[in-house]
Amino acid sequence: MQAVPSEFLTIDRKERANMPFRDLSLRAVEERICDFDDVVISFDEQRARVEASRCIHCPDPAPCMVACPTHNDIPSAMWLIEQGRYKDAAEIYHKTSSLPEICGRVCPHEQLCQGSCVLNKHHQPVLTGQLEVFALDWERTHQPYTVKQAAPSGKKVAVVGAGPAGLACAHIVLQRGHQVTVFDAKPAPGGLMVYGIPNFKLPKEDVFAKWSDLEAAGAKFVGNTYIGKDKTIDQLFAEGFEAIFVGVGTGIDAKMEVPGEDLPGVYEATDFLIRGNVEDQCLPADKKERPQLGKRVAVIGGGDTASDCLRTALRIGAEEVICLYRRTEKEMPGGKKDRQMAKDEGAQYRFLTQPVKFIAGPDGRLAAVECIEMKLGEPDAKGRRKPVPVEGSNFSIAIDTAIKALGYWPDPIISKTTPNLETHDWGLITLTDKKTGATSRPGVFAGGDGVTGPDLVVTAMVAGRKAGEAIDQYLRSR
Ligand SMILES: Cc1cc2nc3c(=O)[nH]c(=O)nc-3n(C[C@H](O)[C@H](O)[C@H](O)COP(=O)(O)OP(=O)(O)OC[C@H]3O[C@@H](n4cnc5c(N)ncnc54)[C@H](O)[C@@H]3O)c2cc1C
Repeated sequence: MQAVPSEFLTIDRKERANMPFRDLSLRAVEERICDFDDVVISFDEQRARVEASRCIHCPDPAPCMVACPTHNDIPSAMWLIEQGRYKDAAEIYHKTSSLPEICGRVCPHEQLCQGSCVLNKHHQPVLTGQLEVFALDWERTHQPYTVKQAAPSGKKVAVVGAGPAGLACAHIVLQRGHQVTVFDAKPAPGGLMVYGIPNFKLPKEDVFAKWSDLEAAGAKFVGNTYIGKDKTIDQLFAEGFEAIFVGVGTGIDAKMEVPGEDLPGVYEATDFLIRGNVEDQCLPADKKERPQLGKRVAVIGGGDTASDCLRTALRIGAEEVICLYRRTEKEMPGGKKDRQMAKDEGAQYRFLTQPVKFIAGPDGRLAAVECIEMKLGEPDAKGRRKPVPVEGSNFSIAIDTAIKALGYWPDPIISKTTPNLETHDWGLITLTDKKTGATSRPGVFAGGDGVTGPDLVVTAMVAGRKAGEAIDQYLRSR
């Protein structure tokens, strides 16, 4: 429900709907490809208030609220920003979101809140994502947020995986008065928000600032701890944790299964992004060496990860960067906004192209990729037309680095080492109750990519919050 009901606002909707639109301001390409700093220029107060005043305040429930996976009360936040009540606007987001400053930056807004803005019919949508960032950044600088906590329950909860699902679950569990310890295989918290999404989309300081909010409320982080190997879920129960949330994502890069895949110069996307983007102090011990990038780089795949790899390669010195994708641009799963930025920054694209072999040069390193041309055939089960090889169309492209951005699989270690934890689809954790995140193992809850397969920060965060509430109920009913 909207906190600021639209029927009480005396506004001229027509006038608002015709206000001029000014798109996001981005740093100039030649400047931004020399560093990893945020590409988007933040709104100042005046710009934020003008943009927020373009909201025509649709009746409750507004389409933007419905489209937002966490149902942020966007119209009320827009009204409060317009009035200069930035702290109150930030509070609106905290009611429904555990990571508003992060979702404001990385959500595919054009498909969610902004995509459903009624202004799209004749004009341009309100830039709700950037306004969310504005309110939360203002709050952090002027009146920082603190996690409000219920009286201590004396109960301990373990969260396995410090990605958006795990951090959101920890946030709710802390609010309900329980103690939380977050375990992660990586040295620092954040999951893919730190060890995947590059700084130029999401500055890592935002993720660490979020963690420090949780830490100030008593959350403990235990890094470099691989659950299933260093200790098991059963051991966590034996240590006195009464409920466990598993938010381990899908950490295994998909393979291509083609000759030459293991040649020096061929990278998996996650490995490349971690080595290329993460600061030294947060790097896992086995990933300290920076990528050895050549001049000509090919990125294979069509999702957001591919866009991030293209843009990272351009920033660490590649001269020519090309994306090879087996379907056409229309079928690409990645967001248009990121792809356009990659194009603007100099990435080239070759569609209907499938690599079939990586070829070594005389020094044993990658020297070329052999590809075959594809054409689109019949639609598959999901309705996407299947790429079909064109016989005899093989050709080679000279490259010295290839990055495979083909998708992700779940790591089966937790399900293999946890009795009675059911899985499906090659290792994704099965929920016995989708509303609560309960699994087949009593006391174990799960959510995020490790349940759904690769998805979004916001959907993982929503799953973590739901499980956090369910864990609170579970602990209180014991
Ligand atoms: C390159 C890239 C770019 C992306 N860009 C966007 C974007 O722009 N917008 C967007 O919304 N989404 C984006 N995504 C998707 C988004 O990052 C994920 O959907 C989201 O992070 C999933 O959250 P999660 O908490 O389920 O898992 P993760 O973020 O993957 O976190 C899981 C955590 O669990 C830890 N872990 C795994 N196994 C164990 C274990 N056995 N023991 C202990 N710890 C373990 C991992 O180390 C990791 O820290 C991107 C993904 C990638 C790879």
